[in-house]
Amino acid sequence: MGHRLSYKSAIEWTEATWNPVTGCTQVSPGCDHCYALRFAERFRGVRGHPYEGGFDLTLRYARLSLPLSWREPRTIFVNSMSDLFHKDVPDEFVNGVFATMEAAHWHTFQVLTKRPQRAARMATVLPWPPNVWLGTSVETSAYLWRVDALRRVPASIRFLSCEPLLGSLGGLDLHGIGWVIVGGESGYGHRPPEIHWVREIRDLCASEDVPFFFKQWGGRFPKEHGRQLDGRTHDGRPPITPSRQLRTSATAAEGTSRGS
Ligand code: SF4
Repeated sequence: MGHRLSYKSAIEWTEATWNPVTGCTQVSPGCDHCYALRFAERFRGVRGHPYEGGFDLTLRYARLSLPLSWREPRTIFVNSMSDLFHKDVPDEFVNGVFATMEAAHWHTFQVLTKRPQRAARMATVLPWPPNVWLGTSVETSAYLWRVDALRRVPASIRFLSCEPLLGSLGGLDLHGIGWVIVGGESGYGHRPPEIHWVREIRDLCASEDVPFFFKQWGGRFPKEHGRQLDGRTHDGRPPITPSRQLRTSATAAEGTSRGS
């Protein structure tokens, strides 16, 4: 799905990243230039490095409860270096990730997957607290079926990441979708989006009253062509989750009971 290692994220639409799983396998054209893969493979064989095993799928048990130690409320992108619903992540591990997200109710978790069909299959056995958002990536209209799978999941916010946008998403149905992010590809071999593909999604979001976030046009580096569309930026986001607002009273209670 994407990007960095550290909890401070450089991704524009989130604040922190948490990678209880790392490594993945490619499933569709949006994966062709997977940043996470290139990043991780640079360290294959480097003894003692977290990515000694390159991009091989690895369960990081020691990181499972990490967000519980972050006391300040954050928006957390889950598995920027993997896909939580990859078939090689056991059900029990997915359950563990959801247990942490449910317990860490003061954070907002954004889970992004290219495998929403598995999320839909597991939906009835997973908790869906209001602080867990689920999104899927859609790069061309050939993957609109992922949006239908996402709709079968009772997440409080279902969102789309249309990045890298590689074709028109004509026929996109935004019923039940609470946020749309669009971005062009960046880096070596980047495939630039056409402006009418982006306008089409912007206009659909406007007519359906869905927040629209335009991340970048892409290019050789992410900001090469900026992030304006028809003379303005688009920074739409869903409203803050109730769980984050609840944190105020939760913090006060913890402060009293733990004396910290
Ligand atoms: S699903 Fe995401 S993490 Fe996995 S290979 Fe594709 S882009 Fe990379």
